[in-house]
Amino acid sequence: MTKEGSQEHPERSRCKWCRRVLPPQATGRPRQFCSQACRQWHWVGQQRARELQLSEHELVITKSELDTLHDQLYVLACAVNDAERDLDAAGPKPSTAELVEIVDWLLEAARPLRDRELAPRN
Ligand SMILES: [Zn+2]
Repeated sequence: MTKEGSQEHPERSRCKWCRRVLPPQATGRPRQFCSQACRQWHWVGQQRARELQLSEHELVITKSELDTLHDQLYVLACAVNDAERDLDAAGPKPSTAELVEIVDWLLEAARPLRDRELAPRN
């Protein structure tokens, strides 16, 4: 199984804007962004932070964006609880069908977080 998590590839660099893992690079200056759009959003974010005199550890996010993120995290947390409960209930040797059902449930809850687009709002 291939994983892109930071535990598997701690040496891999990530896009400074969207945090996606950047492809390995043999030569040249290390890339900081996965795309021109991310480079631009990062720049816009920095300009806005300067205008609002925010430190690099502060940010502005819309309430609806934060609410959506909290909703998606809550759904994922519930799915993890369900999966743990189902694994307990399945006993020491769960069937393939039971495991597939559990993984499907977790993936369904996790996909919205994977597919989020992080873009500043005006
Ligand atoms: Zn990016």
